[in-house]
Amino acid sequence: MSITRRTVLRTGAVAAITAAASLNAQPLIMKSSSELIPRSGKRRVVILGGGWGGMTTARYVRETAPDLEVVMIERNPVFWSCPLSNKWLIDVVDTNFLVHSYMAPARRYGYTYVQAEITDIDRGKRRVHTAQGHLDYDWLVIAAGIRYAFEPWFGNDRKAIEYTRTQYATAYIPSAEHALVKQKIHNFKGGTFVMTLPPPHRCPPSPYERACLMAWLYQQRKTNAKIIILDPKPMIAPITASYAQAFRELYPNTITHVPKAVIKEVDPFNKVVKTAAGDFKFDDALLMSPHQAADLVWKADLIGKTPEGRPTGWAGVHPLYYNAPNDPQVFVIGDAMGAVSPQFGHYPKAGHVANRQGRSVAQFIALQAKGQELKPIIIDNLCYMLVNNSPREAIAVQFDYKIGPEGHLIQTQIDDNERREELWKEDLRWVGIMYKDFAAG
Ligand SMILES: Cc1cc2nc3c(=O)[nH]c(=O)nc-3n(C[C@H](O)[C@H](O)[C@H](O)COP(=O)(O)OP(=O)(O)OC[C@H]3O[C@@H](n4cnc5c(N)ncnc54)[C@H](O)[C@@H]3O)c2cc1C
Repeated sequence: MSITRRTVLRTGAVAAITAAASLNAQPLIMKSSSELIPRSGKRRVVILGGGWGGMTTARYVRETAPDLEVVMIERNPVFWSCPLSNKWLIDVVDTNFLVHSYMAPARRYGYTYVQAEITDIDRGKRRVHTAQGHLDYDWLVIAAGIRYAFEPWFGNDRKAIEYTRTQYATAYIPSAEHALVKQKIHNFKGGTFVMTLPPPHRCPPSPYERACLMAWLYQQRKTNAKIIILDPKPMIAPITASYAQAFRELYPNTITHVPKAVIKEVDPFNKVVKTAAGDFKFDDALLMSPHQAADLVWKADLIGKTPEGRPTGWAGVHPLYYNAPNDPQVFVIGDAMGAVSPQFGHYPKAGHVANRQGRSVAQFIALQAKGQELKPIIIDNLCYMLVNNSPREAIAVQFDYKIGPEGHLIQTQIDDNERREELWKEDLRWVGIMYKDFAAG
């Protein structure tokens, strides 16, 4: 039986919600050369992307700096949560649990939500271009998430890229892919199902959770399925011990985890993945390409560089204040952010982190607006993963941060390895608090 979110969206079907949200959003149809929203006389914060980071920022800038005008631009008509979407794939939660209106929080907190495709960023003119017009900013917060980077696998072979993107979609970005992946999982008739995971990627523990829930489903249905996780890392990580235990105890004949499976070649047409740990033929697959910062970060010319001068693929921003080099009023937050620490590299690409960074940036903007000095804000991270659906048992990981003696961020990771129902209940509590925080319900 699936769990329904008891909120304003309780009875609405997704189609109804989508239609209502689109109607309320009243997308502004203008020539792209025209101004999207006339200047109000107030200084303006423009937020690009209405995901976990962007929605949080919009709410908290309004609260901490009520004199500023806040505009959030997002292409989608409704918010779709990737957290808990693995559970949705096997019907533990229903669609209404993941979907939220953009208009409700915009109304409640007093910011403007514009539904539009953002097409370019001109940092020289402090201007954002959208398919429906442009918008000037005083502060810019880019919270645009990730993009799939198939080029390291296929170079410029558009046929292979499109084929893989459509046939072996992974649903790691809020979009129509989720429906496709759900169908694929439910329609699988048996055989070998391969999953690739190239770090750093969005939500490091989530592919293992997905494997567990798929294995649970196939065991229930007595489908003769072999799920092979091709992991380039030397071991499962994070939550190493309890994932290994869950694979061993709950799904011994269904899940095979292959460490050090660094990808050498992907042939989607002949259904083969060649890795440093061997070649794997598959009947079906979720082929997760490398992830990178979303296109908008590239358009804003904010991709960091390696010491050799090559693009890192991720935003190069200040590790404590998240602002662009030489541009204190332009920030990048959430999954698009690059490495922040010599000790641990990237923050885990998690909604919890994006939420905390959104709150922090709101404080920074409020202080800048008053001409006051910024102080670092230390964030945290918390993540629950469901590994069994009957009985419902989850595991968890917590990350704490501090600034070390040399001024670098230091991370402490605490795995909660004992799988139990209480952690599943905590997961539901956590996500409820999060939705209330930025999505007004
Ligand atoms: C299967 C799965 C499970 C997960 N589980 C958890 C979990 O349990 N806990 C947790 O903390 N995190 C989890 N995550 C990770 C979480 O989803 C991300 O870390 C979080 O969404 C990052 O927030 P963000 O604001 O950076 O990006 P997003 O939430 O992706 O938001 C980016 C937004 O920008 C918009 N956008 C991008 N480009 C444009 C453009 N050009 N024009 C208009 N709009 C644009 C996108 O449409 C999107 O809405 C999970 C992720 C997945 C895939």
